[in-house]
Amino acid sequence: MRLGYRIVMKFGGSCLRDLESFHRISDILKNYSKSELVIVSSALYGITNSLIDLSKNTEKHSVDLEKELESISNKHVSLAVEVIKNDLKEGALAEIERDMSELKVALNDVWDYGLKPHRLDLVSSFGERLSTIILQRYLEAEGYRTVYVNSYDIIYTTSEPQNALPILDKTEQRVKELVIPLLSEGKIPVVTGFFGRDFKGNVTLLGRGGSDFTATILAYSLKNENNDVKVILWKDVDGLLTANPKLEPSAHLIRDISYSEAKELAFFGAKLLHPLCVFPVEKKRIPVEIRNFENLNPDRYTRISKGIKTKESVVKAIADMKNVSMITVEGEAMVSRPGTAAKLFDLMGKNNVNVIMISQSSSENNITFIVSDEDRKKAIKALNWSPFFGKEWVDINMEDDVSLLCIVGAGMKNTYGVAGRLCTALGNARVNIRAISQGSSELNISLVISREDIERAVQAIHKEFNLHDDEEK
Ligand code: ASP
Ligand code: MG
Repeated sequence: MRLGYRIVMKFGGSCLRDLESFHRISDILKNYSKSELVIVSSALYGITNSLIDLSKNTEKHSVDLEKELESISNKHVSLAVEVIKNDLKEGALAEIERDMSELKVALNDVWDYGLKPHRLDLVSSFGERLSTIILQRYLEAEGYRTVYVNSYDIIYTTSEPQNALPILDKTEQRVKELVIPLLSEGKIPVVTGFFGRDFKGNVTLLGRGGSDFTATILAYSLKNENNDVKVILWKDVDGLLTANPKLEPSAHLIRDISYSEAKELAFFGAKLLHPLCVFPVEKKRIPVEIRNFENLNPDRYTRISKGIKTKESVVKAIADMKNVSMITVEGEAMVSRPGTAAKLFDLMGKNNVNVIMISQSSSENNITFIVSDEDRKKAIKALNWSPFFGKEWVDINMEDDVSLLCIVGAGMKNTYGVAGRLCTALGNARVNIRAISQGSSELNISLVISREDIERAVQAIHKEFNLHDDEEK
């Protein structure tokens, strides 16, 4: 029997701007008309940020709520009026109005009772609720048979505010009940990205950029023995690059990358991909394409799949985080005292500090870790107030002039000399390595350098590992 083919496509906020971009979406769908399609929509460009700011200012009573709501409403109404053909426009406008009044109720609660857990999630979810109304009605008016699907009804998650995790088996069951029957009827479900619900019924968010995650969770739920699935994420760039082009002008597109490498890059703040969105597709070996909505070249995209292309080069990409801080706790009291690292990271966790990299030398008298510049103050305050680390027998040092680089490549595994080449290349470029760490998965090496050295360092590594001329034609 031939396998059916299902494609989950996500359109980011930059694809939902005006009549021209909506027509482009419609044209894209024509190219995939032989497959069963599921569409995931992000919020309109900038709307999620506006909703988050609005929630915070509403809690502080420092905003003209009516005026802000009107501005959000106007953006959606004018786009709907611009893109949806006459007969379906009225319905869309009525739905937008209904959602806007629900948003108003949610924000009035924030005003009266504060931003309780999950109220920020609820307010943030309106960006996708509103954009999806417009996209679904637009496609319907263009002649596609579509159905608006609220992800609240299908994506089940854990309960952590803002960053919940999907519960895959329950979601798979809901997709079977609510989405697959629509496909069987020849319809295209248009699904709100970014949010779902927990078992208590709260709206939950999948983290910033979470519509990528919605798409891969749906793909996971749609794949079975009879159906192959692919994910296409439409964005405003060709795909993943070998380095940040602002630091290395000859950085170029990576055409093929494995799940594990893509996860490393996403974790490391490549910004382009939601950090967790690779997990569900990796579990079921579903390929993902990242494609450029601004430049519809059928041959230029990044494909994430199981295949690791072993090429001459062992290193695939260099990721950077320019603005980080390095904190070192140091003292004889830490030597051979089990539990120090646990105390340290427990303290960071309780204070909501995200630890990006850790390095401890075997002399055990210091632990160095990296946090974002935003988390630095929280981390230092927590340490100084701590009954253990705040005492005179521990020194706390903080350096805020550093950057973090991470070189990623599945080919590094079991290959000798990579760290040697890396250090030599950096030495020759007169870049001092201030801390270094390699995970035992051997997929990446992370290093801390002075911020002023970042361009020289990236260029030296790019050159050393021949990333310049690596692009497959
Ligand atoms: N609109 C959400 C955000 O800005 C989700 C997404 O864009 O994927 O984070
Ligand atoms: Mg977005």
